[in-house]
Amino acid sequence: MITELNSVRDVWKKMPTVRHAGLFLENAIWGDNRFCPHCGSLSSRPLRGASVRPGLYQCSEKECRGQFTVTTRTPLHATKLDLRIWIAAMFLVLTSSKGISWVVMSRILGVNQKTEWKLAHAIREMMDDRQGVAGRLSGVVEVDEAFVGGKPTFRHGVKNKRGRGTGKPSALVAAGRNGQARAVLIPNTQGRTMKPIMEDRIDPA
Ligand SMILES: [Zn+2]
Repeated sequence: MITELNSVRDVWKKMPTVRHAGLFLENAIWGDNRFCPHCGSLSSRPLRGASVRPGLYQCSEKECRGQFTVTTRTPLHATKLDLRIWIAAMFLVLTSSKGISWVVMSRILGVNQKTEWKLAHAIREMMDDRQGVAGRLSGVVEVDEAFVGGKPTFRHGVKNKRGRGTGKPSALVAAGRNGQARAVLIPNTQGRTMKPIMEDRIDPA
């Protein structure tokens, strides 16, 4: 995780190639639950071959078969930046308790202002979840689980499962009466998985 890093220099030391950075992000974002960003399926396989860039996966669902990498459909996908710049930027944001100006950050990372603006925008988008941890939901909070991904297409003779057992990742959704809401991907819907996540995001009172 990003907490294993002690300095910006560490990013390049621990990730000598962009593929190392890709693996770092795969571990941080997916862990043991690689999911297809197109349909949410947990079933996919790595694509191999001379012409295939490493880190490319294909969904195993018959009705999807989508190809993806760890950054597909995330804010990181919008730029063609070296993933290590991204990781360094996230490291700087996470370790600057009083915040860091984007101008200073662009100088440390050596990127131009236009790139810097895109970086800043995307990181802010990704950080929304982290701010959610800081500001816990309070008062009356309703919690439910949801399964992420589209409806499976009809296949003759195949009864599509609903809810649990679809192989789709679950999300824990918590909503306060004041209209604030938090959503977080969870590996399963067992109580012992959900309890610490809820305690993190909801005021125990
Ligand atoms: Zn898929």
